[in-house]
Amino acid sequence: MSFTLQTVEEAKILAEMKESEKKRYLFNGTLDPGFREKNGSIILIVGESSRRASWSLYGYKRKTNVFMKAMCEKYPDNYILFKDYRATGQTTYPNLMSIFSVMPAKEFPEMPRHPSFVRILKNVAYRAYFISTYQNIFMSFIGADENIIAKSGDDDSLVPELEQVLEDKKHQKKIIVMHLKGSHFAFTDYNYSYADYIFPSDNPMIDKYDNSIVNTDLFLKKIADLVMKSSEPLCMWYMPDHGENLNDFGDGNLGHGCGSFTCFELELPSIIFFNNAFLEKNPMIRNVSRNSSFTVSHSNVSQTIMGLSGIYPREYRKTYDLSSDEYRYEEPYVIDCDLFPVKYSKATIQE
Ligand SMILES: [Zn+2]
Repeated sequence: MSFTLQTVEEAKILAEMKESEKKRYLFNGTLDPGFREKNGSIILIVGESSRRASWSLYGYKRKTNVFMKAMCEKYPDNYILFKDYRATGQTTYPNLMSIFSVMPAKEFPEMPRHPSFVRILKNVAYRAYFISTYQNIFMSFIGADENIIAKSGDDDSLVPELEQVLEDKKHQKKIIVMHLKGSHFAFTDYNYSYADYIFPSDNPMIDKYDNSIVNTDLFLKKIADLVMKSSEPLCMWYMPDHGENLNDFGDGNLGHGCGSFTCFELELPSIIFFNNAFLEKNPMIRNVSRNSSFTVSHSNVSQTIMGLSGIYPREYRKTYDLSSDEYRYEEPYVIDCDLFPVKYSKATIQE
């Protein structure tokens, strides 16, 4: 959202995406033998500019996750908190592409030539929805059946939209993508209506940021509540696109993508909530839980959702699928400012 001007490389990628979107996609792959029984819906919630360091579920000193913490305590067997989830870039562009593409970040230049995982799921058996308060730059690449753009600019207004989608019983399997405004506030002109939850300190910028994290926490709690109260098999997965710098090194670095990589941009929170009906239909979610202690990244998202759905297109890679028995840890890649993929261990990251 609210991007800086597109670089030449980014413009080229978008043009290439437009070309492949025009091409007809016909599913070419295999389906899990139990595919028909695997009904249920997946809600993918993509946040904005939310850094792990500001989440109390990961040890931040301020209580920014009181609502989700209560949910985790109430349903200890129904959530997965990823220990070390990483972005694949500093900015919205490469990160959103990585989340929705079926190609891993190390093959970044290949991404525009392949359909999004949403388009693949839609092509087989899913009804696909995109719900947001604004038009996402990759909306046509994502390629949902229905794009629902809420009139109000507030993330909270997406909850009733989601409820409506869930109530529609015409479709058994749904893939629902939500893109939040989240914490993308400090350096843009977005106005937020969230309340102040944090007792003010002498740093109003940090206070404002922390309040936005609590607001997202409350939002996620509302969605997790919907998941747990539903009799349909439901699963939600949250991850932000990237994190945020808040002048952590005293060098005036604010926002994201403004300098060399920092841990605050790349280290993200990520959480899954699923109800018992979903677990019954998709017992492989237990593997995701087991593999949640590995370092994972955006490159695991599409593969894991396809794995859980039992849909294996040509581009499916079981070693990236956290729900697969054949998942194998592989060091993630990060996309540099020239849109070039580098191994995390080879990148210079300010910590
Ligand atoms: Zn972003």
